[in-house]
Formats: sequence, structure tokens, C-alpha cells
Amino acid sequence: MNKAVRKAIIAGNWKMNKTRPEAKELIEAIKPLAKGADCEVVVGVPFTNLETAVEATKGTNIHVGAQNCHFEKSGAFTGEISADMLVELGVEYVILGHSERRQYFGETDETVNKRTKAALAAGLKPIVCVGELLWERECGITEEVLGKQCKLDFFGITADEMKKITIAYEPVWAIGTGKTATAEQAQEACKYIRTVIAKMFDEATAEAVTVQYGGSMNAKNAAELLSKVDVDGGLIGGASLKAPDFGEIIRAASV
Ligand code: PEP
Repeated sequence: MNKAVRKAIIAGNWKMNKTRPEAKELIEAIKPLAKGADCEVVVGVPFTNLETAVEATKGTNIHVGAQNCHFEKSGAFTGEISADMLVELGVEYVILGHSERRQYFGETDETVNKRTKAALAAGLKPIVCVGELLWERECGITEEVLGKQCKLDFFGITADEMKKITIAYEPVWAIGTGKTATAEQAQEACKYIRTVIAKMFDEATAEAVTVQYGGSMNAKNAAELLSKVDVDGGLIGGASLKAPDFGEIIRAASV
């Protein structure tokens, strides 16, 4: 990461894990490990844990994120949660377009774009996930896939809004598989994403935007991944559920 111009964001994606007491316990364990960190620390918790997480992180440097929000303000959308509802709870971040939502819940670039705009309008900080499938990488079209996702997901967004968005580069083949992209692959993709943002907006926006890596980042490989100049932190699934591992990643981002 380039600390001179950007602050790293280490965000945990808890997915569909942890009851409320378990969430409280995990946050209590993360608190001392996050204290004084030289990076932004975010916990992306299930909807049912948001209130618990907001309460437990009060007065700390840990920020709370949700894992999705709907693009409409209200209405007949059974099972959905609006961006305003998250803001009302004290939530600051929202993960959007995660590959699991794209794969299992029919999320498309169009709906990611709408959700991103709704999140920004409500004052949330979106963490928007992009990334190629294994066969897309093998076919040599990683850059086309990333370029298309960025163009569609950020269509109609202003440069000022873009600066509030975190892009999580998450190669789908590396998520939850234990297969991490090499630091060179992560750097190459994060740098490419920045060139797409520069073309869509301008150089200043591309330099300002946070581009994280996500995909089996853990306590052992974090330092190497985070040493790359265009890798501004991580979106972490499995390892964010273990306080010592998450703490080690926070430490790696803080040196
Ligand atoms: C994720 O869920 O965004 C993720 C990167 O998961 P994992 O770290 O478990 O691969």
C-alpha cells in the first residue's frame, strides 16, 4: 500500500456466522488487537449482529459494516434491508456485490450499481467487490472482466463519490478456497483496477481510491500481500473470525 496517499482498510467479512453473544465475544477479543492500529478496521457482520456490534465498538477504532443493502428506500421487498435502515443503526460501511451474492443470489452489475448509489446517498461507505472466475483467468480475460465490472458497477457515480468507495479485488477462485493470489497477481490486478478508475474519472481519483485484496488472506500471507504498493488492505473472510489471526493482519497493515 502507499501510505503517503491512502490509508489501508482491513475489513472482516463474517458472512453468515456468529450468534449475538459470539459476536460480542469476538469484538471484545479484537478490540485490544485493533487499538492504535495504523489502518481502518471494519467488521462486516450479519444483519442480526449489527446493533450488538455498534454497541460493542462504541469509543473504539473499530467500524461496523453490513454485508448488503437494497437499492430502494422502502417498499414491498420482503427480506431486504435499506441503506437508511443501516444508517439508523449506526452502521458506517456496507459490502456490496460480493461474489457469493453474485453466485447464489442473482446479484448483477446492474443491481450492484443501484445498491452502491443507494448506499452513497444514505451516507454509507460502500466496499464493492469485483473479481474474475478461475476460467476467466485461465482464458486470459481477467482485465476485461475487471474493467467491465468497474465500468458497470460505478456507472453514473461522480469522482467525489468514487473517492468514498473501497474496491475489493477478490478473485473468485481464491475466496474460501485457501488458494491465495500471489502478491504479484494481487498487485497487478489492483493496479489495473486503478488504471480503469483513472480512465473513468481522473488520475487524482484513481490515486485516492482504496483498492483492497480479498481471497484467503491470512495471518501468514498478509504482510507480503500488503507490501504491494497498490494493495490498500484486505477484505477477509475466514481469518476474520479468529481474533488472533485478524489481529495479525491488522498488525501487518499497520507497519
Ligand atoms: C471474503 O469472503 O470476502 C473472503 C475473502 O473470504 P476468505 O478470506 O475466507 O477467502
